Amino acid sequence: MPKFQTPRGTRDFLPEKMTRRQSVLDTLRSVFEKWGYEPLETPAFEDWALLSAKQGGGEEIKKEIFYFKDKGGRELGLRFDLTIPLARVIANNPQLPKPFKRYAIGRVWRYDEPQAGRYREFWQADVDIVGSPESEADAEIMAVACEALLVLGFEQFEVRVSDRRILDSFVKSLGVKEPVKVFRAIDKLEKAGEEQVRSELRKAGLGAGQVTEIMRFIAVKSMEQLRSLVSSDEMREALAELDSVLAAMKGYGYSTYVRADMSLVRGLEYYTGPVFEIKVGAGRLSIGGGGRYDGLIQLLGGKATPATGISFGVERLVDIMEAEKMLELPKTKTSVFVAGAGDVRPAVLKAAKELRRAGISCEYDVMQRDLGKQLQYVNAKGVPYALIIGEKEAKEGIYRLRNMKTGEEKLLKTVEEIAQMI
Ligand code: AMP
Repeated sequence: MPKFQTPRGTRDFLPEKMTRRQSVLDTLRSVFEKWGYEPLETPAFEDWALLSAKQGGGEEIKKEIFYFKDKGGRELGLRFDLTIPLARVIANNPQLPKPFKRYAIGRVWRYDEPQAGRYREFWQADVDIVGSPESEADAEIMAVACEALLVLGFEQFEVRVSDRRILDSFVKSLGVKEPVKVFRAIDKLEKAGEEQVRSELRKAGLGAGQVTEIMRFIAVKSMEQLRSLVSSDEMREALAELDSVLAAMKGYGYSTYVRADMSLVRGLEYYTGPVFEIKVGAGRLSIGGGGRYDGLIQLLGGKATPATGISFGVERLVDIMEAEKMLELPKTKTSVFVAGAGDVRPAVLKAAKELRRAGISCEYDVMQRDLGKQLQYVNAKGVPYALIIGEKEAKEGIYRLRNMKTGEEKLLKTVEEIAQMI
């Protein structure tokens, strides 16, 4: 049999890497819970009709959905984000008290072109507020995201903000009938560059003048510049909302991280208001993105319900943190290896039981190996301490604790003393 590899765009996470990933997920979860968000879990696959709903994710993402039929002939697909399932849950459970604040951390799948930071199976960590139309909800989402990054140890990052309605009304004011096509072209700016955006806009049927106006508009990077370009009531309204989101961010003390940028549209089509995207360092892929999607729940058969949220890309966070040496964790979470020498199995098991009871993670040999081999394994795994029990120690009821790094040994009488040492 040839050896099998993981399918293209997917990865295994061996224990050392998995430990680092888990520490990132634990931090995210604890920040989300501190802000009062509660967990929600939904299936990995959903009805194809839900995932491909018109004005849901949109045409671009539809091409990337892993589609399949089950044995009963039902059309299904793997979820490509955690927002569509949330909207389905809200549509089906209108009784949930509002605001409904939930977090979700889980796998999603997209048939993307695999490359650095781009996978076909990846994890997202989301927080969303359902039920509030207010800009303070958008600001809270951005503030949770900022706090999560600060707690993870990021010092510099940038949250770019825009509002779909500003761009939408600007594009309409130019006489463009289908703004969605324009959004799709603009969304390619970072990946493909300005020339490509121009060519896509021309392909979408826009005239040279319209293309120039749009390119000028998406170069706007400040609220002052934006204010000078406001031409309709709809734009003025959206601008006022963006102003209040930015003012609220000041209240959180996070305004240094946030800046307006009209080139930001976000790929998914369900956004209806403010949109945001987070990056650490120029030229890097986004580590998170989100925005307001007030139409999605109704679109999926629920009551009209406003909602806003953000999604972190876990792989991208972890990849950057590893590259920047922000995740220097011990190789293993095991603190002690209980090593037996001679006929001492009962004493080894008893010591391990007491250590676990004291909250100390430990393991012992299950391969009938001699002391030398056991200690080789302890070194290979990077367990920091060995508790050596020979026949003498077993008889006298004492423990020999060896610090594997320094080789120093201490004779101890109780598990409490061990707990103090490590
Ligand atoms: P989206 O759901 O497209 O708004 O993306 C939210 C976040 O998911 C992005 O900011 C990325 O961090 C992450 N992400 C999106 N696509 C991928 C991918 N193919 N591989 C890894 N992370 C991704």
